[in-house]
Amino acid sequence: MMRFVFATHNDHKVSEVTAILDGMDISLVSLKAIEYHDEIVEDGQTLDQNAWIKANTIYHKLGGNVIAEDTGLEVHSLDGAPGVYSARYAGPQKNAEDNIDKLLSELKEKEDRQAQFRTVVAIKIDDQSYTFEGVVKGRIAHMRTGTGGFGYDPVFIPEGYTESFGVLDPEIKNNISHRARAFEAFKRFLQMR
Ligand code: IMP
Repeated sequence: MMRFVFATHNDHKVSEVTAILDGMDISLVSLKAIEYHDEIVEDGQTLDQNAWIKANTIYHKLGGNVIAEDTGLEVHSLDGAPGVYSARYAGPQKNAEDNIDKLLSELKEKEDRQAQFRTVVAIKIDDQSYTFEGVVKGRIAHMRTGTGGFGYDPVFIPEGYTESFGVLDPEIKNNISHRARAFEAFKRFLQMR
């Protein structure tokens, strides 16, 4: 069994990644489980930089194997915004409802509602560094639907579907999402090692 600390304070991410990695010989230990409560300041300018800030912070403090990830919502007609600023799009309070309100208002006059979620995964394994990426394309709905998932899920409709991630079964999200795809790449890498 390979042990990884998952460098996140977000319980939703922990439960999604636990489900995505199900069946692998991996034990995923959250920061909560090891009672690591310090905030990790994500001041990078790219998802890649922020994923590595989180991975390296935990790696330098605790050593061992580490998983970190950073995710952004990239909206085509907003030139890729909110992107790396997705968590604090509407301000430093990092509130998902405020962020969705701002997004819907920015898109009010726009016909093009194409968007994608992108996840960068940073891995420290046996003191080596590896990066993986996953994308899911879709569009931003005109209003919220559903209560599943977290963050922007109630307004994101993935390509090939008519319902948002807030409505779709978590199993579907965990099969097709940005996060699922990034961690699938990690799984394939582990299987080839
Ligand atoms: P971070 O990766 O924790 O910095 O998250 C960036 C922002 O994107 C936060 O506002 C999250 O709520 C949001 N976010 C991250 N992953 C997802 C997701 O899977 N669905 C919807 N929103 C997400």
